[in-house]
Amino acid sequence: MRLARPLENLIDQLLKLPGIGPKTAQRLALYILKLPETEARQLAQAIVDCRQKVFPCSRCGYLTDSDPCIICSDESRDKSLICIGEESSDVIAIERTGFRGQYFVLNKDFNLMEDKGLEDLNLQPLEERLASGEIKEVVLALNPDMDGEVMSRFLAAVAGSFGVKATRLAHGLPVGGDIEFADEITLRRALEGRKEL
Ligand SMILES: [Zn+2]
Repeated sequence: MRLARPLENLIDQLLKLPGIGPKTAQRLALYILKLPETEARQLAQAIVDCRQKVFPCSRCGYLTDSDPCIICSDESRDKSLICIGEESSDVIAIERTGFRGQYFVLNKDFNLMEDKGLEDLNLQPLEERLASGEIKEVVLALNPDMDGEVMSRFLAAVAGSFGVKATRLAHGLPVGGDIEFADEITLRRALEGRKEL
């Protein structure tokens, strides 16, 4: 059955979003269609606003609407500590832990097996900060997969070339998890990251 063209178009646009299959796209499109016009306009405007007003901070890469971002401009933060993450969503997660250092966000999908990512990473803002002598420690908070591992080693070497110590998050067992069912790599890393009680 053929749908009205504008409706078909909305479904096609929603289908491009991550985690949205054809059924969900159709359900969302019909839901949007039933919204009062002001709400539908607010949704459309929110998308346009984000595109026009949100950009990566020139200093740390965190998504912001002011440059430098709210984190970089916060004078109460520890400037000697810089945490490197892959995406702004990682910063949001680390902020929840009460971390009070600063950040550098890579904003790049890297796939080292396909040789993607390394060459177009813009590390200049990071290197400038490392060269300033202000930073004492780089905390690597990249995802615990093969690419994250290789990238962590690469970034540790960059930090090292400026005489700055690099550490990385300990990988361990999830709270509520069962040692018996942990995979070998997780268990080995948990052992490596053990701490005195
Ligand atoms: Zn910033």
